[in-house]
Amino acid sequence: MTRPRSLHKPVTARAHGKINLHLGVGDPGPDGYHELVTVFEALGTPETVTVELAAEDSVEVTGRYASAGIPLDENNLALAAVIAFREHTGWGGNVEITIDKQVPVAGGMGGGSADAAAALVAVAKLAGFEDREQLRQIAATLGSDVPFALLGGIALGRGRGDDLTRVLSQGTHHWVLATSTGTLSTPEVYRRVDELREQSAGQSPASSGDEQGPDVAQGVGDGETRSGPARLAEPTEVLAALASGDIEKLAAHVHNDMTEAAVSLLPDIAHVMDEGRRAGAHAVLLSGSGPTVGFLAQNATHALELAVLLEASRGVREVVRTTGPARGAHIVT
Ligand code: ATP
Repeated sequence: MTRPRSLHKPVTARAHGKINLHLGVGDPGPDGYHELVTVFEALGTPETVTVELAAEDSVEVTGRYASAGIPLDENNLALAAVIAFREHTGWGGNVEITIDKQVPVAGGMGGGSADAAAALVAVAKLAGFEDREQLRQIAATLGSDVPFALLGGIALGRGRGDDLTRVLSQGTHHWVLATSTGTLSTPEVYRRVDELREQSAGQSPASSGDEQGPDVAQGVGDGETRSGPARLAEPTEVLAALASGDIEKLAAHVHNDMTEAAVSLLPDIAHVMDEGRRAGAHAVLLSGSGPTVGFLAQNATHALELAVLLEASRGVREVVRTTGPARGAHIVT
């Protein structure tokens, strides 16, 4: 006779880190948030979150990045997700959360957001809650990258990045990620973007209010950034390259508006990017607000070659090989 299934069985869910194939940053609104147009790609680096009913809430972090100074209280994004779930649904359980951390911390890869998305899916399963749309709404209250971690794949994000449209794509992308020996704070990089734009507008008044067409605004390859007024162009070329599976075209059009600001705060990033270009990377792209840098390779063998060359570079803490696109948050047990 089979045993009845326990209602208290732990539930494990997985979500992934991301890179932004395009990150266009607009001017800050009255609430201080910058308007974004971005193309997310979920990468194979997994965060695995196990949620179990317990007498009181707790968080434990294991895995490759367990000791990276991650908060274990309600500031932890996985526990924040469970707290938001309770508030929105009226569910009353306390939970023990275990996070197996494989996404580099504070590198612009959205590891904390992946933890939040995985925790949401896991706690929903534990509570027998099946309304995915409400989960998406709860995710949006937790941070602008959390809805994408829930969705996965490749998606176009607008607003704060949380207004998502799925993007069609063909093929697998081989990425090498170089984490940095330095650190950057996301709000500080946004502030620096604004400062550089103000300086640039001050130096060249003719450029302020300049209405550049979409071709001009987005046609910057390998992650370079120009200062100046925000121009939120549609990443049309990136979307076309994804649909056709043309890696060369994709490499020519990936772009991150935060690159110059990140490099000005942490100059080693420029050195690491140059090393990747010299080593033959198709595209060199700052991941989100950095400081991790992503290098697009032709295939798995090319990725291995790039990884070996980058490992010795000044400013590189470690090198991670992965592929994309990867799935959104899902149950694994
Ligand atoms: P962001 O750009 O959103 O700041 P990121 O992608 O650069 O994030 P994360 O690894 O998500 O980097 O961590 C950002 C910060 O969030 C960390 O420095 C940490 O203090 C805090 N944090 C809270 N919960 C978590 C979590 N579960 N995992 C990682 N970091 C967390």
